[in-house]
Amino acid sequence: MRAAKNNPISSSSISPILAIDPISRLRELIETSSIFPNEQAIGVLIERRLRELGFSTKRIPLQDDPSRFNVVGERGTTGTPLLFYGHMDTVPIYGQWDKDPFKMREESGRLYGLGAYDMKAGVAAILCACEEKTEQRIKVAFGADEENISAGAWALAKSGFLKNVSFAVVPEIEDSLYASPHPNSIMLGRRGRAVYEFDVPGQSAHGAHIRDGVSAIDEAARLCLELDRLNERFHPQGAVPEASQFIRKIEGESTSLTLPEAARLELDRHLVAPETSASVLVSLQRYVDELYARGVFQCPQKRIQIRLKERTTPYLEPYHTSEKLPQVQRLAKIVREEVAEPAFTYGFSVADENVLASCGIPTVSYGPRGANFHSANEWVDKAGYSRSCASCAALSASRPNSSCLFPPARVPPGFFNLPSARYTWPHPNALLAMHTSPPTPRGL
Ligand SMILES: [Zn+2]
Repeated sequence: MRAAKNNPISSSSISPILAIDPISRLRELIETSSIFPNEQAIGVLIERRLRELGFSTKRIPLQDDPSRFNVVGERGTTGTPLLFYGHMDTVPIYGQWDKDPFKMREESGRLYGLGAYDMKAGVAAILCACEEKTEQRIKVAFGADEENISAGAWALAKSGFLKNVSFAVVPEIEDSLYASPHPNSIMLGRRGRAVYEFDVPGQSAHGAHIRDGVSAIDEAARLCLELDRLNERFHPQGAVPEASQFIRKIEGESTSLTLPEAARLELDRHLVAPETSASVLVSLQRYVDELYARGVFQCPQKRIQIRLKERTTPYLEPYHTSEKLPQVQRLAKIVREEVAEPAFTYGFSVADENVLASCGIPTVSYGPRGANFHSANEWVDKAGYSRSCASCAALSASRPNSSCLFPPARVPPGFFNLPSARYTWPHPNALLAMHTSPPTPRGL
């Protein structure tokens, strides 16, 4: 049984199928602190709840800290598996809260608490949906470290658990251009993100003779201005926002009376499909060549070097799941019946969904509305939370023609047999071509 359309939760309207009422499910999650990197307690709680719901469960440890783990579960025998995914962790407490952030508080149709919106309501909605009695194969995964560098999601991707998953639904916050108080938007994609390092050379000279050399810091300043101007070339396309970038670090110095001969910039870049972190590197190199050709720099005999900044997990590539996929249409039908005609949107920010999509899984976000995530007095809309529980339950119980509605994701052979020390993902464009209809490519 589903919650009635637009019907907020009350103790009298809870479906008899639900063993624990949705409010209690959310409350116990909020009252179990899970500020990263301390997700163990909530992991144990979720694991226990999944077992009560008839799931076989497993822990997937994080590569760099095996004491931290994701929790995954599986149930059912029919069809190819649908995946519900949520992250367990929250950010630390920010700002001045009116009340204890670890005690769920209800006020004016809002449920307050740390992580209520991002994304414990989504995690609770998944658990509520799992109370639906169904033979359909369902996989659930709850990740650690999303608010940091998605180490949990990458561990999940490498574990093999995602093999054969046909569709991933993530009841995560929405941050699209068209985010509205109406909980009818299905987010089909998210921007990606990568950080690039620029080594900027200068020409040293005695500091009393500044015309004899070129300060690398001056050259870096010129580059900063030109990189900022690039933002003017980026434009949204429908619901898909524009790419954007900013300088996140600049360093360089002279330790003597000498013009500095080296400086370094870091550019933080949000990517839009069909861009990839690799394709943007090539575009940036071309752009710097263009600047040299235009005579922007005063030290042309040495060239600026650009590279992707190293980090311990891969960068999150952008993705765009086609609304025409039967999996997406199935969810759209449920939203249409439960809420309203769905709006298809695209997220500004990266999240663990980018990792799932990088594995070739058609991925969408559909979660309740709220506000104040990553700040004081975070809340989630109670009625929206109720609808999320109902929509996830309806999706988990749907009995599609499995060969038609939930075809397995076409993951390249060997994709899940990744070496443990290095990430060698297939070119993301190859994956995009399988499951997406990206917007028209654009250059810088
Ligand atoms: Zn989140």
